[in-house]
Amino acid sequence: MIGLISATAAGATARDRLAAAWPGRTRVYDGPVREAVGRAFAECEQLVCFLATGATVRLLAPLLTDKASDPGVVCVDEAGRYAVSLLGGHGGGANSLAAEVGTALSATPVITTATDATDIPGLDTLGLPTEGAVAAVTRAILDGAPVTLHTDTVWPLPPLPPNVRRAGAATTPPPEGDGTGPRPAGRVPSGASEAVAPRTASGAYRPTADGPHIPAGTTAGEPPAGASEPDTPRLAEQSATGPDTAATAAGDDPPARTATAADGTGPRLFVTDRVVGLGAADVVVRPASLVVGVGASRGACVDEVYGLVLDVLRDAGLSPLSVGELATVDAKADEPGIVGAAGRLGVPLRTYPADVLAAITVPNPSDAPLAAVGTPSVAEAAALAAGRGGELLVPKRKSSPEGRAAMATCAVVRRAPRGRLAVVGLGPGARDLLTPRATAELRRASVLVGLDQYVDQIRDLLRPGTRVIESGLGREEERARTAVTEAQAGHAVALVGSGDAGVYAMASPALAEAADDIEVVGVPGVTAALAAAAILGAPLGHDHVSISLSDLHTPWEVIERRVRAAAEADIVVTFYNPRSRGRDWQLPKALALLAEHRTATTPVGVVRNASRPDGTSHLTTLARLDPATVDMMTVVTVGNTATREIAGRMVTPRGYRWQSEGAR
Ligand code: SAH
Repeated sequence: MIGLISATAAGATARDRLAAAWPGRTRVYDGPVREAVGRAFAECEQLVCFLATGATVRLLAPLLTDKASDPGVVCVDEAGRYAVSLLGGHGGGANSLAAEVGTALSATPVITTATDATDIPGLDTLGLPTEGAVAAVTRAILDGAPVTLHTDTVWPLPPLPPNVRRAGAATTPPPEGDGTGPRPAGRVPSGASEAVAPRTASGAYRPTADGPHIPAGTTAGEPPAGASEPDTPRLAEQSATGPDTAATAAGDDPPARTATAADGTGPRLFVTDRVVGLGAADVVVRPASLVVGVGASRGACVDEVYGLVLDVLRDAGLSPLSVGELATVDAKADEPGIVGAAGRLGVPLRTYPADVLAAITVPNPSDAPLAAVGTPSVAEAAALAAGRGGELLVPKRKSSPEGRAAMATCAVVRRAPRGRLAVVGLGPGARDLLTPRATAELRRASVLVGLDQYVDQIRDLLRPGTRVIESGLGREEERARTAVTEAQAGHAVALVGSGDAGVYAMASPALAEAADDIEVVGVPGVTAALAAAAILGAPLGHDHVSISLSDLHTPWEVIERRVRAAAEADIVVTFYNPRSRGRDWQLPKALALLAEHRTATTPVGVVRNASRPDGTSHLTTLARLDPATVDMMTVVTVGNTATREIAGRMVTPRGYRWQSEGAR
């Protein structure tokens, strides 16, 4: 029982919200606060005090005996903003209680014990349906207790902490890549693991995906490169090869167990679309991996279509919670039975033109749909069309209503998981110029790929269990390929770059490698030109362009042509990669080209290491710029003919007529 204590009306409001959210779990202790705390402390396993921490500490101090027997105590401020785990973080369960209170009251959990301050993702934050003992397994994960992970294939999950170990990790070494390079995710590699790939109820082998193994990785929170391969849970290697997963797939579910031992018989976390027997301390996360193709004669009722879908899934040992979509032919987009079934499942309905479906080879074509809607298959073809090349787990099956002809058909495809590639700009350097969205993506990824010095910039933000693949300057293409390969293997990958990752950076080489078999998410960052402009004043107030002076990958003639064009067009220019030890004539040459169209007194801003601790900037002119003040950590912004220095700041007027334009 959780004892609730409050002193003021505001505290009582938050208290009552919690009591209402958790019926049967809490007991309100009224009366004088000291007495209430005393009674609750004696009678409850846990306390939530809606009081200041100082007051709570003073009230608790005389009552404390020892860590093993004292209840866990969470303190919530009267405004309900924070849920502080105050006492018994692990043994008393206060850390996970604080997290739960946080969810219930929209308060921020404050957890100060070492292992938990690491911000491990809650199972309920994955955005996927869950079943089973979510709170208990979340608690076990938070408390660092051993949790066994069972997955059929690789899902783009966030990193899981080292106490979450894949089934069989202790004894079975992770399968290595077969050396043949990237494989499509979700396929059984030739010669690999077929013998142990569990069968589905339909008899088909389930796909396993053991992504290509990239040895350069280290794992956040682990000893870095040079140490032996991390023995941490890496979802990369979670093909379902564990004996007990295979048994589960065969319908021989392991018996319920309790979360006690550290020998692998504790809580289990499944990520699967299969029906699994859950013990008291098990949880299953349902990926949206199934696509159900449906066909229906005109007027088929919802019960018949929906009932067929449920029957088919049940007979195949598959969970309705893993259905991501229903699919059918365009002509049936408004068929009430199909629309209703999608509604009951809570999934979208996707439809395809008949000619698209007709072009798909299916095991069970027939004449009836050909005559009715122009394709020999609706259910199988639509499921395969929406299934992104996935496996047909259940071929077409008809409904079997009593005493009349079947009006619905259905087929099930399992989609190959789609990995996730986030291309994340880290900003120019300062932590507060890293966007919250970039931070979220860094923590969302289980694999991080980047230049070593950029990775250093954000290493502290990574969640434990993140696999880090870093390399040095000049390995851009390799990094891009690695990131895409990892995403193709089903992982959630973040590819990082300084500034904006799409500006002279990793986004284009990565996306040039990527097909539509991965999801790509771009996170913009503050690029150097903008960081520098903010320091200089307002140099980009009118049309502006960025030009890289690096002729490493671009012929100088091309660069020169662009500089000339900018000069002629009177556009403000920011030079990236302006000068390095081996490349020193390009900047003076480019400035000379601009000087053909701009006066010698045109303002030029030079910003080195913008937003970094050793950052510098100065304002000079086209004639006076000293190239020795410029290096590869610098951007140079040259004004247009209207740019002025005003009070030590570089200002490019917005335009000559803009104020009157605004009035029009
Ligand atoms: N993607 C980066 C640019 C990479 S090209 C971005 O969007 O900012 C590398 C060049 O960017 C450097 O040679 C330098 O010219 C510029 N640069 C990057 N960070 C900088 C910073 N903090 N201060 C000044 N220039 C920077």
